[in-house]
Amino acid sequence: MRGLDAEALDFTLESITEFAHRELPDAVLLDLDERDTFPEELVRRMCGEELGIQLVFVPEDYGGMGGNAMDVYRVCECMARIDLGVATSVLATFLGSDPITVGGTEDQKARWMGRIAEEGILFAYGATEPDAGSDLAALKTVAKPIGDNGTVTGYRITGAKQWISNGGVAELSTVLALAPGGPTWFVVPHDAEGFTQGHPEHKHGIRLSNTAALFLEDVEVPVDDLVGLVEGQGLQQAQQVFGYTRLMVAAFGLGAGWAALDRAIPYSQDRMQAGGPLSEKQGYTHKLIVPHAVALEVARAAIEETAARIDAGGGSLNTEGAIAKYLASEAGNAAADAAIQALGGYGYTHEYLVEKIRRDVRITTIYEGTSEIMEMTIARDRWQEHLKTRGDHYHAIGRELEALPAGVGGDIAALAHHALAEMLEACRTARLTRHQHILLRLGELEARTEGAGALARRAAAVAAGTTVEKTSNRFDAAALAAMSRVAAREAALTITTEGLRWVGAAEGGDAAALAARMGLPAVHAAQAGLIADMDLVADALYRRT
Ligand SMILES: Cc1cc2nc3c(=O)[nH]c(=O)nc-3n(C[C@H](O)[C@H](O)[C@H](O)COP(=O)(O)OP(=O)(O)OC[C@H]3O[C@@H](n4cnc5c(N)ncnc54)[C@H](O)[C@@H]3O)c2cc1C
Repeated sequence: MRGLDAEALDFTLESITEFAHRELPDAVLLDLDERDTFPEELVRRMCGEELGIQLVFVPEDYGGMGGNAMDVYRVCECMARIDLGVATSVLATFLGSDPITVGGTEDQKARWMGRIAEEGILFAYGATEPDAGSDLAALKTVAKPIGDNGTVTGYRITGAKQWISNGGVAELSTVLALAPGGPTWFVVPHDAEGFTQGHPEHKHGIRLSNTAALFLEDVEVPVDDLVGLVEGQGLQQAQQVFGYTRLMVAAFGLGAGWAALDRAIPYSQDRMQAGGPLSEKQGYTHKLIVPHAVALEVARAAIEETAARIDAGGGSLNTEGAIAKYLASEAGNAAADAAIQALGGYGYTHEYLVEKIRRDVRITTIYEGTSEIMEMTIARDRWQEHLKTRGDHYHAIGRELEALPAGVGGDIAALAHHALAEMLEACRTARLTRHQHILLRLGELEARTEGAGALARRAAAVAAGTTVEKTSNRFDAAALAAMSRVAAREAALTITTEGLRWVGAAEGGDAAALAARMGLPAVHAAQAGLIADMDLVADALYRRT
């Protein structure tokens, strides 16, 4: 899918940024956060004629601009840099209409996507319930068919939905309910009889978003409002959009993480301690700034690679979406936390905003699937790949990385991939995935390894001038190569250390033999040059030549 042309995307990003500078300066953000207030009028202007952000994700056939996955990631990152609560609200409409995008009939798409484009209505996505979060199949909301003489003319929906973004303000919700044929999405207007909303939740972060419970008491909807007109497709439809929607939340983590670092970086240039700016102190930059910039760019590489593959027709890429979300949301949280430390006592106060960003970004490891569910999703899928290829899955990717040009970190990322393949094999022979903790640790290590590989490929593409259109261009080839080498060393060391730890913890066995198979001496040797590369990354971040 081609999406917006590069100029249209740049214009959209500039318009959003300019609107935010004008309407949402720091003082306004702090005030709204303090008062726990959703700026509804502002969000409606952003989703209406004035800014028209919603047009990016509505297909051209229904009056939108037909943005692709790359466009949506760039817009989500841009919005998250401004405020994650506002971003959540604007993008909840996208989430809410996703079941229609993947499962709706042509008439349904024209009807509802057309209204989003023309009227700028807000949608909400009603999946979660008080007793059904990560395990959506446990849902209790029911949809009872109604009709005459055996013909179903509509449904009567009863149940409750929990933590719904835009729940208290949207015009329409997509609601997942259990019909006789299985879980099914329905489009429910918020002014329907029997439909009520809870009070806005009092939240830790994203306090500029509205989150509310929904209550449905015999709410009647016509059969035409069953998404796709066939019962029982709901969970598959929810799965189908995950690759896409998890990229959105990944972009939220990325944007919020960079927003925090981009406050810490200039602060450290101004703040004098012990005779000079903090930015000149290696013990400061190499702990609080550099590793986080690297982790965020690892996540960006995973996001951009996944978006490019989705746009090239590669399917919904659920596992890759999960990896991108996992890496970006964890990196965004760590970066925001480090930014508080980087600002010292000032960081701990409201005024400097990094404290608010830290609270806001916390949600990204929870909604659209928690980090633990991401670990499980990644681990299960890659376990199958390991078995199908008789243990060669990660070795094969390692060989591809070894073929990248020298200097972009491919050789070191390859060490991580080969070590991971050996860890998986050790888990297979000793049947260690029967321990859920080990399965989930595998998910984490797989994400870290694949992220390092993605950044090496991105560094190589930037060096060769072969990047996909519309990707970000903040760092040049030399800086990206240094970042990639730092990331690859970290991944390789983590995989070997953690691999030995968890295999040993569950099985005991011959640790020295496994260490040799995982290439531990080579991984240790590859750490040479790390400090120099971190110096290079710091120079790039502080624009020092
Ligand atoms: C601000 C906010 C906005 C939200 N917006 C929306 C929205 O618009 N629409 C919507 O439908 N939902 C929304 N949600 C809900 C969100 O998606 C869920 O909170 C999330 O999926 C987790 O579900 P849960 O809260 O029930 O936690 P649980 O599923 O109960 O999980 C609790 C903890 O247990 C872990 N866990 C769960 N299952 C397992 C397992 N099998 N093995 C190991 N560990 C496990 C989880 O990782 C987590 O750490 C929102 C939530 C919040 C807080």
